[in-house]
Amino acid sequence: MSRGTLIDLIYLFSATTFLVALKGLGSPKRARYGNAVAAFGMLVAIVATFFKYVDGHALHHVWLILLAMFIGTIIAVPTARFVEMTAMPQLVAIFNGVGGGAASLVSITEFVHIKSTNPATYVTLEVLLGVLIGTVSFAGSAIAFAKLQELMTGRPVTYPGQQIINAIVGVVALALIVTILVQGSTLLLWVLLIVAFVLGVAFVLPIGGADVPVLISLLNAFTGLAVAASGFTLGSNLLIVAGTLVGASGILLTRLMSKAMGRSLSNVLFSAFGSNITATGASSVEGRSVRSGSPEDIGVLLGFASKVVIIPGYGLAVAQAQHVLRELADELEGKGVEVFYAIHPVAGRMPGHMNVLLAEANVPYEDLLEMDEANSELATADVALVVGANDTVNPAATNDPASPIYGMPIIHADLAENVIFLKRSMRPGFAGIDNELLYNPKTLLVFGDAKDTLTKVVAVVKAS
Ligand code: NDP
Repeated sequence: MSRGTLIDLIYLFSATTFLVALKGLGSPKRARYGNAVAAFGMLVAIVATFFKYVDGHALHHVWLILLAMFIGTIIAVPTARFVEMTAMPQLVAIFNGVGGGAASLVSITEFVHIKSTNPATYVTLEVLLGVLIGTVSFAGSAIAFAKLQELMTGRPVTYPGQQIINAIVGVVALALIVTILVQGSTLLLWVLLIVAFVLGVAFVLPIGGADVPVLISLLNAFTGLAVAASGFTLGSNLLIVAGTLVGASGILLTRLMSKAMGRSLSNVLFSAFGSNITATGASSVEGRSVRSGSPEDIGVLLGFASKVVIIPGYGLAVAQAQHVLRELADELEGKGVEVFYAIHPVAGRMPGHMNVLLAEANVPYEDLLEMDEANSELATADVALVVGANDTVNPAATNDPASPIYGMPIIHADLAENVIFLKRSMRPGFAGIDNELLYNPKTLLVFGDAKDTLTKVVAVVKAS
């Protein structure tokens, strides 16, 4: 067997591990295993690449490649290891951005490389698409990172005629591609690079900070497509497969996230959602009364319950209360109370946010219920304990056609006999809208940081 065939077989093996990994990532229980399988497949592919012959020659600049890998590793490993869970979306944004940037650089190098060989039009087209998509992904991810990291305003940045201007920039980019295909001008390639950069920035500016995770998922799909384009350019089947998998799964995830938010993708991308939300959102609650209680009150209520459904949301991540929440659940279970966790697909600020948080606290996977299952348990629950969730339990999504979240599937905390909200104030959640459930007579609010409140509740339950 020739060296080339052997390496192709190794690549085939790696591509298969990516498929196995994707399957694993489909469930919280097997997600770590899926990740490990993909990492192993990638490692094998990288090692094999060092033994590849390119144009009949062994790989050039091996030491430079190893140096680049070393620098990348010493930056990426500690960053990923020590990042706060709440900062995970911006980490994904920046890692995704560099992937897009790398694909774009590969395409630029390849353009310069193949120019003198009079390549077929489709080859140049692949290269140019790699430059366009990779650069849009790089620039867009950089702005997404800046928004999430609060280096700039997280609000949608809008101005008159914005979408029309963006459309014109897009048309200019396509016109440049056609012109380069005809003329082969390297100068125009640099112009394309700048226009693609402007397009990436302009595309992301009007998207509100909290919609950015959906956008990142879409940009991730773009990076996948740019990598697939590089695969065609370099004649690498593995890059084509890996890029297409990232592209397809990114697009699916984007669609699933928009659906779980009850909004269309175009609404997420083009409606500047969040630009009209007031800073506190509290004005709408003036003059209305709520029933508030103390940690002692809920400690007693929980101690007497026979079934409790915990509904975690973004506030759980902010408070970092996952460990003490687990402790409370353990205490209650020790007293014979049935405890479940109801997981909304877009609770928190990134896909799987609650799963990851609860996994950190070693909550057993069997205790996590998906939305539909959770709703049937809630109908017979004594207490729905809402910990830092708001929009994902807001009945306006079902009852109020005028609400911006109307149509979003929710967890029906309102079905339980008693509803407890742990939050710090009457401020709304991400959608910036009031929640009728807070004023429901069966609802008890305990104001304060979720971790502080839960710590006190655990003490009460332990003592009872
Ligand atoms: P929300 O954003 O609706 O509400 C979070 C709640 O947590 C607020 O009511 C806030 O109230 C409370 N809170 C914040 N900090 C604390 C704290 N330290 N202690 C106690 N409470 C706290 O969260 P949900 O998870 O219910 O909904 C997620 C929203 O994010 C949805 O609208 C979803 O569409 C959107 N989204 C989700 C994405 C995802 O992938 N998961 C991506 C993009 C958007 P207070 O300030 O009074 O404490």
